[in-house]
Amino acid sequence: MRKIVLASRNEGKLREFKALLSPLGWEVIPLTSYPDLPEIEETGETFAANALIKARTVAFYTGEVALADDSGLEVDYLEGAPGVRSARFAGRQGDDAANIALLLKLMEGVPWEKRKACFRCVIAVVTPEGKEYLAEGTVEGYILEEPRGKGGFGYDPVFYLPEYGQTFAELPLEVKNQISHRARALAKIKEILRVY
Ligand code: IMP
Repeated sequence: MRKIVLASRNEGKLREFKALLSPLGWEVIPLTSYPDLPEIEETGETFAANALIKARTVAFYTGEVALADDSGLEVDYLEGAPGVRSARFAGRQGDDAANIALLLKLMEGVPWEKRKACFRCVIAVVTPEGKEYLAEGTVEGYILEEPRGKGGFGYDPVFYLPEYGQTFAELPLEVKNQISHRARALAKIKEILRVY
């Protein structure tokens, strides 16, 4: 089996990538198998830049093929914000409630037709020889005025999908995992890894 190192410590992502890539003959190795690896700063101004920084660093240090993803929410009315700053929009890394509160405050009084947004995910695969591949997935929706639903994470409770009549936090996880930005980027990278 060929090895691929996932540049993430997120258990959920590890499960998702394993399910997808092991049928293609890839053994997905978690970053926790390399405890000496330095902390990677996400200093890029785009999702692609950040995914590449992570995948390049991991490929360089491990000598294996590396896969990294970076994702976030882009709101039209806010000219693409919070974008690469999605996880730390309100200041503290990963404070979902504060991030949602700030987003709703900035969107106060904005009419429905101007509340369009999308989630975007970019996946980078980098080989130890320096070959680089990128794949992107998006999903479109609207920002609600109030959170709805208990599932998911991040901005899911305020991200509404008109074709389902539900937010990402109300949709069953199996459905979200089929239509999400991450799933769409994964499907494309799978095609690349099939022929690599
Ligand atoms: P990361 O790519 O895992 O670092 O995610 C960046 C940030 O974007 C997260 O902390 C969330 O705030 C937001 N985000 C990314 N994907 C999703 C999603 O599927 N639902 C809700 N929020 C998301």
